[in-house]
Amino acid sequence: MLYGINDEGETIEPTPGDIARCPLCAGAVRARCGQVNVWHWAHAQGGDCDSWAEPETRWHRAYKLIVPRQQREVRRGNHRADMVNRHGAVLELQHSSLSVDDIEAREAHYGPKM
Ligand SMILES: [Zn+2]
Repeated sequence: MLYGINDEGETIEPTPGDIARCPLCAGAVRARCGQVNVWHWAHAQGGDCDSWAEPETRWHRAYKLIVPRQQREVRRGNHRADMVNRHGAVLELQHSSLSVDDIEAREAHYGPKM
């Protein structure tokens, strides 16, 4: 995930050594700021509370950065929508294939404005 929540409740980007809270589950997240992968936040306990989460890639991040910050990784129930436009439509960025069941599950969750 691109954003964590600091002690002041602000949305922050990862910086080396930083710890924050997950915007979805409020669990502790650690900044992952290496030289290979895109800088991101990862749950300190491992895994991800969003069962639809996928590794943050340069491709994924680049598309998220097209929209204003408040429209990226927007909480929708127990999932983080990649992008939500100003009219409330969800845009999920998918570089790899998804099964029909997974697509239907996301459509059912996000509704007709996906
Ligand atoms: Zn979480």
